[in-house]
This record gives sequence, structure tokens and C-alpha cells, in this order.
Amino acid sequence: MKQTISKISDSMSAFFSLVFSSTVQKAAAQSKLTHHIVALNKKSSSTEIINEVSDCLKDILGYRLFAFVVRKEAGVDVWLDPRMYKSSIEAIILKDFNIRSAADLNYLNHNFDPGEHQEKFSLETLVHYDLKEDNCYARLYMMPEKGITKFHDQVVRLILQGCAAALSKQIKIENLKDAAVIDPLTGCYNRREFESQLQRHVASASRHGHNLSAFMFDLDHFKNVNDTYGHLGGDQVLREVARLIKDNMRRGDVLARYGGEEFFAILPETDKVKAMELADRLRAKIASLRIPWNDGNIRVTASFGVAELTPNADISRLIEDADTMLYKAKINGRNTVMPGLIKVCKDDAFTSLREQRDYSTSH
Ligand code: GH3
Ligand code: MG
Ligand code: MG
Repeated sequence: MKQTISKISDSMSAFFSLVFSSTVQKAAAQSKLTHHIVALNKKSSSTEIINEVSDCLKDILGYRLFAFVVRKEAGVDVWLDPRMYKSSIEAIILKDFNIRSAADLNYLNHNFDPGEHQEKFSLETLVHYDLKEDNCYARLYMMPEKGITKFHDQVVRLILQGCAAALSKQIKIENLKDAAVIDPLTGCYNRREFESQLQRHVASASRHGHNLSAFMFDLDHFKNVNDTYGHLGGDQVLREVARLIKDNMRRGDVLARYGGEEFFAILPETDKVKAMELADRLRAKIASLRIPWNDGNIRVTASFGVAELTPNADISRLIEDADTMLYKAKINGRNTVMPGLIKVCKDDAFTSLREQRDYSTSH
């Protein structure tokens, strides 16, 4: 790393000697840039690195960094200026990176609320720079105040050189961390990580007296899927179902692959009724999912067991409750949630709650 910084510093010095006749000006510009590049290399996350690049662009050139997009092994990370007009730049990113849907982008820095005020910009002056390293490919979208001069162009390239080294190092660290906690087939957390996250969430909910619910789900007759479409078809189903669930959960929720075709979700700040509603929405989404395979589609259903952390209960009790409910959902005919909501039709609202177990046994 020291070598990289000193290499950049040498090119900086040579370049600034050409641009500035005054040694004072040269020293000031060089010291600013060096300060930012050294800072970049001390950051411990991609988001922090990008924020530093943003500060540096503003500080030295008066530019606004609009977006920074990084394609790496695990997907596409996007950092967006929170004030920017999201849908315009998102359309550009999807096209440039050849991505099917915005749901495939992983936003690093911002949760966009619908209706949130966003400035509108003319994107005509948007420029981009690319950065390529062995483990990542990134594009920086910026809005210069005026056009880009040769000096500005060179400074941006120097900043990117510094950023490339820092980002590549950070991604290597993140990849190593991911390998230890992520299930490679589905991209969900693995069981070991699930257990440690559950411990953290349960401790925090108990300490602050907050709600916490969880659900466990298992694909129905999955053995038949493998028998009919082969193991690769089964794998594709696991990938698509996991993706569907992740896309429909909140950012703070945790989804883990608990076993073969069994998943567990932790829902912080969520009571049991909300968890049951969510589980039922997800159940319906899985049932209507069509997974393209060879010339047709694979369809699956799943059974869900929901549980809530009760006072004095512990982690094993929560897991056991969800597991018991999942078992009941299986014997109640599968493609169902236990305990379940009973919808009493009065203005289409859920006005009464009863465990579906009672409902199912009495019909
Ligand atoms: P049930 O509705 O009772 O859950 O029936 P099921 O067939 O889903 O359950 P069973 O436990 O009999 O079979 C689970 C199957 O899941 C068997 C196993 O080969 C398959 N499976 C587990 N892990 C994977 C995987 O990573 N990929 C694929 N393709 N199949 C898997
Ligand atoms: Mg199953
Ligand atoms: Mg199973």
C-alpha cells in the first residue's frame, strides 16, 4: 500500500510541476490531494471510501459526485448522492451495467423513501470515469460545475488511482468475510451467522423491551422438484425463492438458509401479527412465482412457521416455536402459515385473529 501511495505521489508531483508555476500553489494542491489519498487508504468500508472520494472531488475541483457504482463478485453496489434525482441516474446505471432490474442493485448509503424530495438535474453534463481492478469494476458519475479541463481530468485520474487500491483491498476483505457468513448458493446468511445474528437481536430486543419475531419456512415436496427437474433445477428454485424473499423484506430483517430447503428470517421490531401478515404475503408470492427452466416454468409452494420472542423466552424457545408451527403448517396441508390470520370480511380488514389451526381442524 505504501508503494502505491508513493507511486501516486511521484506522478502527482511531476504533474503539478507542469501545471503550477508557483511552488506554494503546487505544494498546497499536492498536500490536499495526498491528504485525501492517505485518508482513503485508512477507510474500513466501501461506503467510507466513496464518501472520501466525494469529499476529495468537492474539495479540490468543486465537483459533485453523483453516483459510484461498483460491480464485484457478490453483486452491484451503488452509492448515490442522496439529493439526486434517483430514477434518472438509476436508468443510466441499469443500462451501463446491463442489469435487469433496480432490485438487483445494492444501495450502500441511502434508503429512498417514496415522495422524498429530490432535486431534478439535467443529466446532460454528467460525465463518468471507469476504474478497473482484478476484483472489481467501478464507474464514477460526476457533475462538473464547468467543462472538464485537462488539469481536472488528470486530478480525477489520480484520485481514482488512489481509490482503486483502497477499494480493491476493501473488497478482498469483504469477500473473505462474506465467504465465512454467506451461503454461496442463495446469497443468504449461513446457519452459523444466523445463530450469531439471532443472539445479537434477541439480546437487544430483551434489553430494550422491543418486539422481535421470526419465521421459518420450508419448500413443499422439494424432493419432487429435484426428481422432476434435476438437482440444477432445484438449485435454481432455491436461488430464486431466496431472492424473492430478500426483495420483499425490510432492510433490517435477516434471512438465512437454515438447512437444505429450509430458511429462517429474523424480524426485529415486529410483533407476531405483523410477522404472520408478512409470512402470508411471502407465501402467496412464492406460490405465484414461475421459475423459467428449460422450455417451461417450475412452480413451488412453501410452509411457514411464525414465532415471537416472549418475555423470559430464549433463543432456543423461539427456534423451537417456529419449528413446531412449521411442522403444523406441513400437516395442515402445506402452502400455509401457522399460526395463521383469519380474515373476517368486514371492510376487507383483518378484524379478528384466531390460530388457523382451529380453523383448519374445524373445516
Ligand atoms: P416436505 O414438503 O415435507 O418438506 O417435503 P420435501 O420433499 O421438501 O422434504 P424432504 O426433506 O423429503 O426433501 C428435501 C429435499 O431437498 C431433499 C434434498 O435432496 C433437497 N435439497 C436439500 N438441499 C438441496 C440443495 O442445495 N439443492 C437441491 N437441488 N436440493 C436440495
Ligand atoms: Mg421441504
Ligand atoms: Mg426440509
